[in-house]
Amino acid sequence: MSDTLYIDGQWRPAASRETREIRCPADNSVVGVVAEASAADTEAAIAAARRAFDDGKWSSTPAAERGDLLLRIADRIDARRDQFVNAETLDTGKRPYESDIDMTDIANCFRYFGKLAAQDAGRVVDAGSADVDSRIVYEPVGVCGLITPWNYPLLQAAWKVAPALAAGNTFVLKPAELTPHTSILLFEVLHELGLPAGVANLVLGPGADAGAPLSSHPDVDLVSFTGGLVTGRVIAREAAATVKKVALELGGKNPNVVFADVGVTDEFFDAAVDNALNAAFLHSGQVCSAGARLIVEESLHDRFVDELVRRAEQIRLGLPFADGTETGPLISQAHRDKVHAYVEQARADGAEIRCGGAFATGDQGSGKLDDGWFYLPTVIDRADRSMACVHDEAFGPTVTVETFTTEDEAVRLANDTVYGLAGAVWSSDAARARRIAGRIRAGTVWVNDFGPYLPQAEWGGFGQSGFGRELGPSGLAEYREAKHVYENLRPGVTGWFENRKG
Ligand code: NAD
Repeated sequence: MSDTLYIDGQWRPAASRETREIRCPADNSVVGVVAEASAADTEAAIAAARRAFDDGKWSSTPAAERGDLLLRIADRIDARRDQFVNAETLDTGKRPYESDIDMTDIANCFRYFGKLAAQDAGRVVDAGSADVDSRIVYEPVGVCGLITPWNYPLLQAAWKVAPALAAGNTFVLKPAELTPHTSILLFEVLHELGLPAGVANLVLGPGADAGAPLSSHPDVDLVSFTGGLVTGRVIAREAAATVKKVALELGGKNPNVVFADVGVTDEFFDAAVDNALNAAFLHSGQVCSAGARLIVEESLHDRFVDELVRRAEQIRLGLPFADGTETGPLISQAHRDKVHAYVEQARADGAEIRCGGAFATGDQGSGKLDDGWFYLPTVIDRADRSMACVHDEAFGPTVTVETFTTEDEAVRLANDTVYGLAGAVWSSDAARARRIAGRIRAGTVWVNDFGPYLPQAEWGGFGQSGFGRELGPSGLAEYREAKHVYENLRPGVTGWFENRKG
């Protein structure tokens, strides 16, 4: 089924019969051939979703039943875990260990929204009169366009698909064109579980062609997009013409603020360095919430950055299935070129490249890297706010280093960004850590940690990291309309206009 799209409950080839080769970024090998949709396919998928919403039963299926389906989706993903892990690994080049963590999080996301679906069915509003019954009820928004990126392919899709289904919507999912395979597997599961035709539709293909109708088409009621800032602006502009509901989860340039007092013990210092390393280099930095800006107190700079560099140089890049691999490649040649250009610009602007700054090639002990898109972990020291590297999202294995001497300066640097997705503060002084956490303008702030998120806690951005929230109760609310039903239990003449007898 992998060279087909899923539209109106059926697997079918793209109207144009075009296909695309999917290549593993670790060795450029072909790992599959999938259908390549164009706008015509997406329009057919939107029409199917519209019919299923307007004429079908899904939106009025009891919420508990919809929730139950989500729980069964989670069970099926668990039952086919190896297949999902393998597909995610081949598409992205990340280690199976990481793909497996993603699958756990994905199953948990379906379980969370599965249980939430039947809760909070609405509320009674006190209208101030015994003769009035006034209630808020929740209804699905309608047809949703869901557009997702390649770094966490199925995870990002799950954050949208689970609440969209829980709330009773129908939808068209367009995953990133480079990483479609786990979305195809998810749709196999939806098909097996007997989701009514047209409720869930899958189109695979490039954004400008297959994706574009999801923001411009009048029959789409909501578009939820995760991806880059530039694309987010296009989506918002296109969606404005039909005043769709829009949710945007965009990039970040996330600060990791480290106070000198982390040096209070060796353990605390090691924990801070270790987390700064993860923050920057996990999944080779292709993480929207990556800690790509290290903001360290000047008096700790030398010790902290020396240790960070020492450890960054030891990170073992490798093929995803090879023993000893710690992290993998960038997603594509074009993306690696972009990351390298970003580092070269930093160098030209006067920053100090302490390690990395080049393609990783040769034999790294866990296989040859020459055929993949590997980039060395890169520490960009002595960066300052006049440099583009401090402001632009590289979305690669790079971290800039800035220093501060006062709390106010730390906060100023942390908030010196158009983004506001996530941030962290490290300090052994609990009151200080809380003070700073309260002043960082971001949707998620970690204190003495970096990276965790929970399905029951909202995720989203301040500033140009977007608007709307995924996960948590607000993640479900995105896909619901609140309707006020005001019922007069004792109807009567109002007498507002007195000439009623003519
Ligand atoms: P991208 O914006 O290039 O593409 C994202 C998706 O949008 C893809 O499916 C793409 O095909 C589609 N697309 C592109 N142009 C389109 C158009 N005109 N109309 C409709 N769809 C279109 O982003 P990417 O390179 O795939 O992902 C990396 C970006 O995603 C980074 O900026 C990263 O920070 C961000 N991201 C954010 C979060 C978050 O939770 N905030 C999570 C993951 C990734």
